[in-house]
Amino acid sequence: PAHVKADAQPQFQPRIQPQVQRDDSSKLETIVVGAGLGGLGAAIGILLAGHAVTVLESASAIGEVGAGIQVLPNSARVLRSWGLEDALRPWATAPRGANYFGWKGNHISSMDFDAYAKALNAPFWDFHRANLHKCLLDRAVELGATIKVNSRVENFVVSEDGLSATVLLANGTSMTADLVVGADGIDSRLREALLGHPDPPVRTGDLAYRLLLNTKDMMADPELRPFIEDPQTNYWIGPDAHCVNYVLKGGELFNMVLLVPDDMPDGGPSTLVGSVDEMRALFKDWDPRIGKMLGLCQSVLKWRLCIRPTLEPTWSHPSGTVTLLGDAVHATLPYLASGAGMALEDAGVLGLCLAKLTDKSAAAKKQALRVYEDCRRERTERVVARGSYNQEMYHLHDGEQQRTRDKLFKEYDAIEKE
Ligand code: FAD
Repeated sequence: PAHVKADAQPQFQPRIQPQVQRDDSSKLETIVVGAGLGGLGAAIGILLAGHAVTVLESASAIGEVGAGIQVLPNSARVLRSWGLEDALRPWATAPRGANYFGWKGNHISSMDFDAYAKALNAPFWDFHRANLHKCLLDRAVELGATIKVNSRVENFVVSEDGLSATVLLANGTSMTADLVVGADGIDSRLREALLGHPDPPVRTGDLAYRLLLNTKDMMADPELRPFIEDPQTNYWIGPDAHCVNYVLKGGELFNMVLLVPDDMPDGGPSTLVGSVDEMRALFKDWDPRIGKMLGLCQSVLKWRLCIRPTLEPTWSHPSGTVTLLGDAVHATLPYLASGAGMALEDAGVLGLCLAKLTDKSAAAKKQALRVYEDCRRERTERVVARGSYNQEMYHLHDGEQQRTRDKLFKEYDAIEKE
């Protein structure tokens, strides 16, 4: 099928970050807990800053669950600064824009991603998560990361002199480092260990159905074919729910996420195999094109959506030996497509702060972590809040507020076009 080929994407001049060279007097031994997108990003950022990294991952194999992921220009910039542009381009689809539809299929507004990309000097990219994850893993290993699987971290203790932290693993072993970075996701153990008490994430009342369609099936239907031939990000917004979809792998796959009220049982796992019939029933009165797409679906997973609006008093242990990053600190609703983007930005900033270290003293590490948090806290808290705002705005029932929303979306579209 026709698609935006990697070569046809605008060419940007990436500013690639050189690797800092340092001797043992200032080289930190670091542990990154978690090999998700944030943890691997942290490994790359810290390695480029000239330090040593061991990544500890609880799973028995390195990989990424879920289907598609949107990478907006802010995080694409970070990836390019890590020298990943050439490795990523073959896997990237560049959507030309975004469309907003009402739940019955009426067009509300559009966004011109190409214009934004030009203005921001960085692309919009959509990936299959496994491809993005593999590129990050390869780069981390190339830069010198040691990756250990089957390594679930349960807790940490700071040494008496306050210069190092030892992580305690579920398998009974331990490991000590000058700095530990908790990138262990929304259910972070490191976060709870830092706080010294349980701290479950906050439920949002929504869940996500996530599925992938084979685009060959869609190409056979004249009503669905345009979604493949002209790759864009499409949103249908309506009462208590919305649907997002976009093309992956240059037209091979079609990613769909459907966001609906959370009906998952309390106390159970946050990811379950979903019922395709139940999902279809929720959208039976929506735009018939959604019904057609869901008619092609064979299986679906459902994910409870939780958030972490803030972490007080700080993101780091007072000794400067432990800090957090990504969903462990500021998990957000995916309604701005920015959770992983924020984790990658965190990793970029943490790396730049650690690149400035000239010694391994507690004072130097504390200063670096203070600057890291100062750079990241306000922005990430705003993204979490804005994600929750979008939940309200996208899920309005038909009526006065919905009409005002649609009018504002249209006006925004017109201003952009000017
Ligand atoms: P995770 O990806 O959760 O990684 C944590 C890692 O740590 C895992 O590998 C885990 O196995 C490991 N781990 C956990 N506990 C331990 C432990 N105790 N010891 C050792 N290892 C451990 N973001 C975007 O930017 N764009 C999007 O389009 C987008 N779409 C989304 C759609 C949906 C439906 C959802 C739910 C999220 C979406 N996100 C998106 C958000 C994004 O997926 C997350 O923000 C991102 O994956 C967080 O990365 P992370 O590395 O912080 O955590």
